[in-house]
Amino acid sequence: MHHVADIIREVPEDKIVVLSAMSGTTNELVALCGYLSQGNKAAAQELVLQLEQHYLQTVAKLFAKEDNRKQGRSIVSTHFTFLKEATVGEYNPRLDKSILAQGELLSTQLFTQYLKSVGDKATLLDARDFMRLDEEGEPDSQYIKNKLQEILAELQDTQCLITQGFICRNSFGEIDNLKRGGSDYSASLIGAAIQASEIQIWTDIDGMHNNDPRVVETTKPISKLSYDEAAELAYFGAKILHPSSILPARFHNIPVKLKNTLDPEAAGTLISNTSETGKIKAVAAKDGITAITIRSSRMLMAYGFLRAIFEVFERYKTPIDLITTSEVAVSVTVDDITNLDNVVADLRTYGVVEVEHDHSIVSLVGNSIGDATGIAAEVMTALKDIPLRMISYGGSKHNVSLLVPSTEKAHTLQLLNSQLFKL
Ligand code: ASP
Ligand code: MG
Repeated sequence: MHHVADIIREVPEDKIVVLSAMSGTTNELVALCGYLSQGNKAAAQELVLQLEQHYLQTVAKLFAKEDNRKQGRSIVSTHFTFLKEATVGEYNPRLDKSILAQGELLSTQLFTQYLKSVGDKATLLDARDFMRLDEEGEPDSQYIKNKLQEILAELQDTQCLITQGFICRNSFGEIDNLKRGGSDYSASLIGAAIQASEIQIWTDIDGMHNNDPRVVETTKPISKLSYDEAAELAYFGAKILHPSSILPARFHNIPVKLKNTLDPEAAGTLISNTSETGKIKAVAAKDGITAITIRSSRMLMAYGFLRAIFEVFERYKTPIDLITTSEVAVSVTVDDITNLDNVVADLRTYGVVEVEHDHSIVSLVGNSIGDATGIAAEVMTALKDIPLRMISYGGSKHNVSLLVPSTEKAHTLQLLNSQLFKL
């Protein structure tokens, strides 16, 4: 928090600072909800006490003066009283979202209090007053924009506003959230709502990398990406960004900068509507993919066959990621297998169905690589010894996707790294 204060002091313009919970907190709160739903009160109470200790230690280190520490302890006490109360009496699943919200409520209040304690200007805005989901559970951009502008118009001083990421209300006005990692999405929605000149997302890595740093040693940050490239990468596994968070920025053409809190001087990644074309910028992988193949001689020269197959997936609300076809077979991949049994049973009426689990989609991303020559050859050469299960090329100009058994993922990423990025 001391460090974050230094970073925002460097920004002379008016700004809204969107904070996530402190590291690890949301995971703990998720675990707490788990214990409560299992009726394990002892574990729940123990978790709350330990987390409270962690926050009290934070307060002791955060503030220099006893006066301020006292204010800090009182913030902690308010939220932990709520959490303790949630662990007694009967479990109420409707409280889960409120429990999850405590992380961001704590971090923003402590941080605002800290800024004030060192004489900085700061005003706390409550995200629950303007962040809202519509009936479909999607952010209601119009509401967010109107509400936020209304709130800002009332303020005398908008130099430094602090608010919570992640949390919001649903269309019934109940506490909700934008799903795990949603603080980025909050920042992007807020940036779009106020037509910010720039959205910055600060994490603990120096931008988006050209490969998965957990699997490949020599990865490098990418200096510039287009919105499309960034969205593909976020969706296909680059953990640094919430996949939806690019959409509001793209819609309003607001540049997004990814920066590293631990190394603020590092250039990071700039996401905007311009980017070098015809070059693979990055490779990302998504695990837990299931491939489904439907073979049928009835497909030969027939029309309506694909529609019938896709309708099965629609019926069971199962999104499809990759598709490849031949005259007598269709292969698709899915990552949500909640309704797999039903899907397979219905597909069997159209042909022989084969299901393969434990695959990974490896995605190569770059602006207009579909227009460039030689890319496919380069990829195939690099992967000549890898059993490629599916190849999807040409659907989008910005993406080539391959399906490999998950056991081959690390090897695939390493081979692509040395071939494409010569690293
Ligand atoms: N605190 C939330 C989470 O851990 C939101 C975020 O970090 O972006 O998912
Ligand atoms: Mg987070």
